[in-house]
Amino acid sequence: METFPKDLAKFESWFSSEQACRDYLSGLRWPNGFICPRCGSHKAWPIRALVYECSGCHYQLSVTAGTIFQDSHKPLTVWFRAIWWVTGQKNGASALGLKRMLGLGSYRTAWTWLHKLRRAMVRPGRDKLSGVVEVDETYIGGEKPGKRGRGAAGKVLVGIAVEDKGDEGIGRVRLGMLADASGDSLTPFVQDRIVGGSTIRTDEWVGYNRLESAGYHHVSSKKNELKLAHLVASLLKRWLLGTHHGAVSHEHLAYYLDEYTFRFNRRTSTHRGKLFMRLLENAVQIEPVTHGKIIQHVRGRKPKDHNI
Ligand SMILES: [Zn+2]
Repeated sequence: METFPKDLAKFESWFSSEQACRDYLSGLRWPNGFICPRCGSHKAWPIRALVYECSGCHYQLSVTAGTIFQDSHKPLTVWFRAIWWVTGQKNGASALGLKRMLGLGSYRTAWTWLHKLRRAMVRPGRDKLSGVVEVDETYIGGEKPGKRGRGAAGKVLVGIAVEDKGDEGIGRVRLGMLADASGDSLTPFVQDRIVGGSTIRTDEWVGYNRLESAGYHHVSSKKNELKLAHLVASLLKRWLLGTHHGAVSHEHLAYYLDEYTFRFNRRTSTHRGKLFMRLLENAVQIEPVTHGKIIQHVRGRKPKDHNI
């Protein structure tokens, strides 16, 4: 059985009704069949568009409860179209583009949806990188070059980890915001993203000195020899300036890093439908987030260096 729509024609015929979207979503949410969170019963039937009732204890549960679709007043068919569109945008999606495509009344809705979807781009408990991995940090934003190991006004330090697949080129990447370039920041950055025992290639910066004792095989080279990490850094910067016109605030940068990682790691995937399914899978696993929560730190007057 096909598990994801292969093309637009399939997409349209599979997801033409709310019931069809609901059934697909329940398949992703309960891959081994429905389980009642109250009594553990495996039987339930749909009683309203999105709501199931447990046959054991009559508990009623919406398939969207506890997912990013919770509290949305828009039909799932519209959400599905949004996700299909987002996964098809090679260089990333803009809120204006999404608003136009869906015919949404408000820019705010489109903007909030994109932020919700960015949060779904990281799979909870995703695999760590392994093998040979290049690690470096780069400053994003601001006008003057930053001094290593210290903060610089208007700049954010981003850690980059890239798998070196030898003749096959670049493997997967992981990105993350760093408080600074000290060992206290860099060691956990590596531990959170790379399997112990892997070979880590870095430059000779003192912040990487503890990798060997943290259980990695550490190789240090000259800064300019970290070709893969430098390539990813420059592509990332170009993407932030190009697709998002540099209009990314510090508060949201982490989520843009997630979007970039999602797109980069799937850059060779020829199945748009598979990306669509992966994003939906994550979307039913992560906690719901409200518009208020997304903007809680970005209301009011912005400092001069608010955007990166
Ligand atoms: Zn029950």
